[in-house]
Amino acid sequence: MHPTYTGGMVSPSTPNDAASEFEHVRLLAALVEASDDAINGADLDGIITSWNAGAEKIYGYTAEEAIGRSVGMLTPTGAMDVEGTLRSGLAGGKPIIGQAVVARHRDGSLIELSLTLSPVLDDDGRVIGSSAVARDITEAQRKRTAAEHERDRLAFAQELAHVGSVELNMLTGHRWWSDEYFRIHGLPIIPDPTEELWLSVLHPEDRERVRQVWHDLESGGPPFKLVHRILRPSGEVRWVHTSAAAEHRDGVLVRLLETVVDITERKLAEEALERQAFQDPLTGLANRALLTNRIERVLEEARQNGTQVGVLFLDVNRFKVVNDGLGHAAGDSLLIQLAARLRSAVRPTDTLARFAGDEFVIVCSGVGPGEVHDLARRIAAEVQVPFDLLGHELFVSVSIGIALSSSADTAEALLHQADTAMYSAKDTGRIDGVVFESSMHRRAGARLDIGSQLPRAIERDELEVYYQPIVDVVRQVPLAFEALLRWRHPRHGLVSPCDFIPVAEETGLIVSIGRWVLVNALAQTQHWRSQVPGASGLRIAVNLSARQLQDPCLFDTVADAITEAGIDPSAVELEITESALLKNVECSMVTLTRLRALGVGLSIDDFGTGYSSLSYLSRLPVTSLKIDRSFVDGLGGGDLHARPIVAAITMMASALGLDVIAEGVETQGQLRELERLEIGAAQGFLWARPMHVGDAGTWLTGGKSRPDAGRTQPAAAG
Ligand code: C2E
Ligand code: MG
Ligand code: MG
Repeated sequence: MHPTYTGGMVSPSTPNDAASEFEHVRLLAALVEASDDAINGADLDGIITSWNAGAEKIYGYTAEEAIGRSVGMLTPTGAMDVEGTLRSGLAGGKPIIGQAVVARHRDGSLIELSLTLSPVLDDDGRVIGSSAVARDITEAQRKRTAAEHERDRLAFAQELAHVGSVELNMLTGHRWWSDEYFRIHGLPIIPDPTEELWLSVLHPEDRERVRQVWHDLESGGPPFKLVHRILRPSGEVRWVHTSAAAEHRDGVLVRLLETVVDITERKLAEEALERQAFQDPLTGLANRALLTNRIERVLEEARQNGTQVGVLFLDVNRFKVVNDGLGHAAGDSLLIQLAARLRSAVRPTDTLARFAGDEFVIVCSGVGPGEVHDLARRIAAEVQVPFDLLGHELFVSVSIGIALSSSADTAEALLHQADTAMYSAKDTGRIDGVVFESSMHRRAGARLDIGSQLPRAIERDELEVYYQPIVDVVRQVPLAFEALLRWRHPRHGLVSPCDFIPVAEETGLIVSIGRWVLVNALAQTQHWRSQVPGASGLRIAVNLSARQLQDPCLFDTVADAITEAGIDPSAVELEITESALLKNVECSMVTLTRLRALGVGLSIDDFGTGYSSLSYLSRLPVTSLKIDRSFVDGLGGGDLHARPIVAAITMMASALGLDVIAEGVETQGQLRELERLEIGAAQGFLWARPMHVGDAGTWLTGGKSRPDAGRTQPAAAG
């Protein structure tokens, strides 16, 4: 028993029994002495009255050093503040239990203690001092702080990485969720989450799947990784990646560990990428990549089932006109509306894709020629209803090429065949589609070449103007040359304007090509007029396409070419087909009137092939009509209708004060008929084919091959 220990803190249960009380005190003293806790007493002035071995160990002072001194030496500041404060609380006679305080060791270091202070009472119940029990919690506190710090760091790392974790102790049934786990699931952080709570945040459509893998894991399965959806209480759906493992001890499941990563943002980005990779952004239809994929797949199925695949290749006719004329917004709107109509025309099992620009492709499996033509007709019917393009009503048609898998066995070949057939559909104007035939290949090849190579034809100097004379039928003298364009293609040789002018029209290239023809033909003609004796009155006829008529710079282009060539404007004739005029009546009227005022002649080319009415013609500032070759063909032959028609045209023209020129005169018989009908001017192989500029010059100077040598004069009419 410690000599300085004074009892009184604990009362014996039977204070009247002196022997037993003594025993009791001895026991208490032994306990106090054996305790690791610092146990000491103090009087009301704070003077230490007792000191056990534990106190010596914790504070560093021996009992001899401590007893009789103030407890203030144990506080960090040397004052009695802590104990003083605590002790004032003791005035009411109540103990203070387990208060964390900082004390000073004998060596000056600070120690953390858990301090319990109890009042020491005299027999009358008055407070006469205090007893203190202090436990060193410095180490425990350090560990706790470290653990807390560790937990904070983990929580922070999890928050940063959107990783949550869960530990399930199967022995105690305790479930621990990290803060981030709560956050990922949109839940408030609570101490004891339940299985029901966990189930409630699993997405209903994924719930069974997730439960199954957990069940497998608990029954001894390997660790798993799983991507699934969760449903936050707010209704928000998120994607998570779950990894889980089980810990077994002696064959008994003791722990389940799970980490969950929120991958919603990554998943959305992936989905967007996938959409971009396989979906056309404008129409939302499948794109080319997805299309090729699908065709390969249905081809494979068709091979297995012995059925056929049909591929329809659709192209919007004159889409460029819409795009260029009404603007890209209108073009886009047309494509979006068209996509919707196509969607309603195809079967749910068909694949509809936007191939490029204004080209769409439909893939149908299990079909024959009958069904694909039916589909093409359904599409044509859908498209026939006018489109509303930003307030403009627009009529649109499509050309449809069809390929069937019986003739090709790869996606690429099928698409190529359908594309080729589409061009044929464009040419023939059939609305229920044209099925591919092998004879179509060659032309398509040439066409593709033209599209890609024409833009460089001018700079490569591959274009040439050929000249064909227009002669005075009666006097047999050349009145004019018609400038006819040729393309000397490095591989295809001399390409006819019929093959590349439509392409140039479609692409708009015709505007610059047309300017080039004008400048060249006018300069060349002026050269002949000034150099070839008797050719001073030679005129030049140049063809204009519909597209050129829409060009706002047309007047300037013509006027500039005239000035540049130094030619008399009245020596220039512009040929415009009926259909081109019909397309542009309003907008071309102003330009044509200005050109006419300049002195330029205007003729209607291929007259009779369109539907021009007399009243319509009289509104236009034209000067002549060129009767189409198809009527001239019938003259001098067995066609009884040809003569009255040509006669009517001639009469009508003379009533309007227009000159008449017959095109495509090839025979003497035709020539005689023209003379009888009093048609003054003609053009045709009978006199000369379109000629290279050198040959044209030679022809002009007298080396002509004459249809009637006796009547042809060597020089041009004045
Ligand atoms: P077009 O203006 O009607 O030209 C007359 C066409 O008939 C020319 O064909 C000419 O070679 C052909 N031809 C002339 N006489 C006869 C004949 O006796 N018998 C037969 N069978 N044919 C005859 P080409 O040169 O192939 O030109 C075709 C069309 O291309 C032209 O028809 C014209 O519309 C267009 N074209 C030609 N050059 C140009 C041009 O520079 N600009 C524009 N926009 N179009 C052009
Ligand atoms: Mg012409
Ligand atoms: Mg013509």
